[in-house]
Amino acid sequence: MQTDFNSPRNWTEDSEHENGSYQCKCCECGEFFIGHKRRVICKVCVTNKEDNIDIDLMSKMDKNLYIQRMKESIERSKFVDQNIKDLFNSMPEEKQIILWAMLEVMSQD
Ligand SMILES: [Zn+2]
Repeated sequence: MQTDFNSPRNWTEDSEHENGSYQCKCCECGEFFIGHKRRVICKVCVTNKEDNIDIDLMSKMDKNLYIQRMKESIERSKFVDQNIKDLFNSMPEEKQIILWAMLEVMSQD
């Protein structure tokens, strides 16, 4: 299986981080992509998911409660190491909510 270094699925911004240039397999579409070794979803699928989560969850929940739960969840999460926490905290709030929602979905299994 060949990895396309120019694929829109790649998380090119991860490459500046430690463990940021792993070949990963997307759990949504099954395609290979390059990114942080803990990533499970390619950039294309995340972009598609963001739209869904935006409409689905954001409209239904109280935003402040949501943010509070999100931050607690990120602190507890076994998926998330310190590098990702730092990255997470530097993101705009809207992006944090989307990322958190995805972690919740992934940890439900
Ligand atoms: Zn994908």
